[in-house]
Amino acid sequence: MRLTVLGGCGAWPEAGQACSGYLVEHDGFTLLVDVGYATVPRLLERVSQDQVDAVFVSHGHPDHCADLNPLLRSRALRDDPPKPLPVYALPGALDAVLALDRPGMLDATYVLHEFTAGSRLDIGPFRAETRLLPHWVPNAGVRLTVDGRVLAYTGDSGPSPEVVALARDADLLLAEATFVDEVPEDSRRDLSSARQVGRQAEDAGVGQLLLTHLQPGTDPATARAAASDGYQGKVGVAISGMVIDLS
Ligand SMILES: [Zn+2]
Repeated sequence: MRLTVLGGCGAWPEAGQACSGYLVEHDGFTLLVDVGYATVPRLLERVSQDQVDAVFVSHGHPDHCADLNPLLRSRALRDDPPKPLPVYALPGALDAVLALDRPGMLDATYVLHEFTAGSRLDIGPFRAETRLLPHWVPNAGVRLTVDGRVLAYTGDSGPSPEVVALARDADLLLAEATFVDEVPEDSRRDLSSARQVGRQAEDAGVGQLLLTHLQPGTDPATARAAASDGYQGKVGVAISGMVIDLS
């Protein structure tokens, strides 16, 4: 299983970067996990739009799904449109982004598979186990398994035993860490710090931790250090172009 980070900015894309978007590839199958702002130009540097085999979206905030619109446009406005793209999301999560264009324009470009958080999906070669994690809107963390390798991704989530359960013994935990140490009072249920995520990675016994969704302007080294206070393993920070092979 290969993870390629298209973007890891929280909230909005910094210069030259993108928001949440991750290519997860195995055996010729390409799954795009989240499609936040500015991920499509990063995607198209690596694969063509018709090489994406499926899309999984954690939740309906635009920094996780806004670029579904240009991805579908790039497939629709071709002389030979590829077959409809399977898109997995929680009920209603994509209603807004799918309504951006004139009615019907993108209908033939995708097949929407709305799932209930907690359900298990088969997406190409991947087994995808989902969990509802605490956020302002329903957010599905996902645990992707293929060939005995496990990648767990939180989407956006406050600290929760459900995060630890999602990530239990995973080879890699890709975790939202918007803040370094303290999460502001009004966000404590819904977002995490690098320090909290480090502790949760330790509790889950994961092989390595990749922090993502850092608030723009955050010093990556400071975030890594905060996570490493509670976690003994390797800690990285997601940035456009990073590739991690889990094998
Ligand atoms: Zn969010």
